[in-house]
Amino acid sequence: MTRFWYALFLLFISLPAHALEFNKYHSQDEIKSWLLDLAKQHPELVKFKFLGYSQQGREINYIIISKHHEQENQPALYFNGTHHGNEKSSTESILGLIDFIIDNRSEPVVSEILDQYAIYLQPIVNPDGHALHSRMDSVGRDPNRDYSFPERDEQDSFKIQDVRLVKSLVDQVKFRAAGAFHSGLEAILWPWCFTPQRNAENDTFYTLSKMTAEAMGISRYTQSYSDYPTRGEFIDYVFMTHGTLALTFEVSPEPTPAAPRLAHYVQRSVKGALAFMRGVMALDRGNLRIQAAPDSKLLSKVDFDFKAWKKTE
Ligand SMILES: [Zn+2]
Repeated sequence: MTRFWYALFLLFISLPAHALEFNKYHSQDEIKSWLLDLAKQHPELVKFKFLGYSQQGREINYIIISKHHEQENQPALYFNGTHHGNEKSSTESILGLIDFIIDNRSEPVVSEILDQYAIYLQPIVNPDGHALHSRMDSVGRDPNRDYSFPERDEQDSFKIQDVRLVKSLVDQVKFRAAGAFHSGLEAILWPWCFTPQRNAENDTFYTLSKMTAEAMGISRYTQSYSDYPTRGEFIDYVFMTHGTLALTFEVSPEPTPAAPRLAHYVQRSVKGALAFMRGVMALDRGNLRIQAAPDSKLLSKVDFDFKAWKKTE
C-alpha cells in the first residue's frame, strides 16, 4: 500500500461513523443501520435492542446508552419519537439527541448524566405511521390515545401493538423520567392530560418544564389538559403507573418542517432534553429549587394560535 492510500485508509477508519446530518429526513433503514453502527463502534457505551414488530411487520428498535451496562437497577431515562407518524421532526430530534450524547460523552455536561443514569432512546414508536406518513397506525388508530389512565383500565386500552411494546418496556424498566417527542406545536406539557386536576408532583413538573422550555427558547409550558384535554396519552400512563416524570416535548410548529429548518429544531430539542435531564439529576441530588406552579389557566393564556394548533396538535 502506498503512503497516500495508507493515509487515506487511516483517515477513513478514523472518521466517526455516527456523524449524522439533519439537512434531510432519514428512512427507517438508514436509522437502523446508523444505530447498529453506533453499537458496533461504542460497544462499551451503546447497546442496540430490538423491541418487536409493528402491525405491518416493521421493526421497532431502541438503544441504551450507559456507562454501566452490567449494573441492574441503574435509574434510567427514556425518550421516544413519532407516536404520530407524520410528526417526523420528533424522530429526527431523538436521533439528534443520540448523536449529541455520544459526541459529548466525555464532556461534564453529559458525562455527569451518564454517571447516574442509563438513557433509553427509541426514535420511532409507530413505524407504520412513519412509513405511511400518517398520524395514526396502519388501521387508523391513534397510538397516543391508547394507553390506560386513571379513568380507563388496561383491558380497554393497549389495542395497538406498538403501544403494547412501549408498555412492556416502561413496565420493565420503570423509568425515572421520560420525554415523548411530538411536533405540530411548540410546547412542553406535563400530566395530567385527562383532567384539569393537578397531579401530586405538579410543582416539580412545572419547574422541570420551565427549565426545558427556557432552554429551547419557547414560551409555552403547561399541564397538558390546559392545552387540550386528551385521554390515553403516554405521559399519563407512565406517571400513573411508575411515577415517571414524563413530559411531552412538542418540538416544532409543523409536524414535518421543511428540511432546511430541521437542523434548527433538532438542535433546540437537544437543548431542551439536556436541560430536562440535568433538572432531573439535580432533583435526585436534592439540588433542584422547586418553584410553585401558578394556576395553569393563567399559563394557558400565553399567546397562542388556537386555530393552527387545532388542525395539527
Ligand atoms: Zn403527536
